Amino acid sequence: MTVADIEKFFDIWAPRWAASERDNVGLQVGHRLRSVKRILVALDVTAEVVSEAARKKVDLIVSHHPLLFRPPSSITSSDRVGRLVLTLAQKKIAVFSAHTNLDSARDGVSFSLARVLGLQRIRFLAPLKDTLVKLAVFVPEGHAEGVTSAMTTAGAGVIGNYTSCSFRLKGTGTFRGAQDSKPFVGRALQLESVDEVRLEMIVPRARLRDVIAAMKSAHPYEEVAYDVYPLQNEDPNFGMGAIGELPRPVTLKSLLNRTKRRLNAEALRYVGHLNRRVRRVAVCGGSGSELLNEAIAAGADVFLTADIRYHAFHEAQDRIALVDAGHWETEHPALAAIERRLREFINQKGDKTQVFLSKYSTNPTHSR
Ligand SMILES: [Zn+2]
Repeated sequence: MTVADIEKFFDIWAPRWAASERDNVGLQVGHRLRSVKRILVALDVTAEVVSEAARKKVDLIVSHHPLLFRPPSSITSSDRVGRLVLTLAQKKIAVFSAHTNLDSARDGVSFSLARVLGLQRIRFLAPLKDTLVKLAVFVPEGHAEGVTSAMTTAGAGVIGNYTSCSFRLKGTGTFRGAQDSKPFVGRALQLESVDEVRLEMIVPRARLRDVIAAMKSAHPYEEVAYDVYPLQNEDPNFGMGAIGELPRPVTLKSLLNRTKRRLNAEALRYVGHLNRRVRRVAVCGGSGSELLNEAIAAGADVFLTADIRYHAFHEAQDRIALVDAGHWETEHPALAAIERRLREFINQKGDKTQVFLSKYSTNPTHSR
C-alpha cells in the first residue's frame, strides 16, 4: 500500500471536490509513492501527535484539520508549523488531511456525531446541489451490460446507499455513415436502423470526464451518441450537517447529559427548556452555526454544533434548543469512522497495513 492508494480511498469517500473552496485538503507532507505500513489517525497534527507517530514508527498521519492551511512563506524551525513539517520530513512521516470534504461525506464528521448521540434514520441536513448530471447513451442491444459496468466502475450510478443504478429503454437508432466511416453495423453511405438501448445513469459532475472515457472505451460504435443533462437534484451522497430522530422522545436535560457523557465534554452552552421533550435532532460537527435556519426549517427540536456566537443563541431562543458542545468534542467521533473505513479498505485489498487511533486529545481548550 502506498500514500497514493490512501489518497484514492479518500477520493471515493470524501473527494477533494466536496471540500470548501478556501480549504486545503489532501496530501500535505510526503511522497505519494512511498509505501505505508502503519497509519496514525488524529484530529490535529500537533507536536504530541508527531512524537507519537515517530514512536509508533508510522509512515502516514491521517488528520482531519490540515497542518498547512495558508501557504507558508517559509518552512523554518522558528514557528510551530515549520518545526512540525521539518520533523515530519526528517522522520519520513507523510500527512494527509480530509477536512471539509470529510464534513460533507456520508459517514463523515456529522454522521459520526449523529451516530454517537444515538440518532436513527440519519440523513444530510443540507444536501449539496449542482453536483450531479444525467448521462444518457445509446447502445446497440447486447452491449448495454458492458457499457453499464464500465460506467459504474468509473463512478456512475450511485444513489444514496445503492450502486449500479441505471435505466434502460429499448428503441430504434438510425444513422448513415460517410464514405470513410467504419460503422459497427451496416455499411458506409447506407441508411441503417438498429435496435438500441437508451441507457441512463446519474454521474457526479466531478467524475463526468472519467465516466465518459470509460463509456466510450466499452462502446462498440466509432461515434458514440450521448447526452449530458444538468440536474437540479439534491445530492443524497454529499451535504452539510446531519439530522435524525432519537428512538423515543427524551427531555432536553437528559439529551444534554447523554451528550456530555458520550462526547467527553466538560461543559455545554445551550438555550432551551430543560424539561421540554425532544426527538428530532440536527447536528453539525465543528463550526456549524450557519446551518441554524436549515435545522429550524427541517423541524428539528435541537441543533447541536460548536463555536456558536452569542447572537445565534438569541436568534434560536423559543425556536429551537441550540447546543454548543465544543469543536473537538463534536468532531472526534469521526476518528473512529476513519479508522474503521481504512481498515475495511486495507482488508479488502488483502494488505497488512496497521491503523492506530491517536491516544492524545488534541483539544487545546478546557472548561471549568
Ligand atoms: Zn474542525
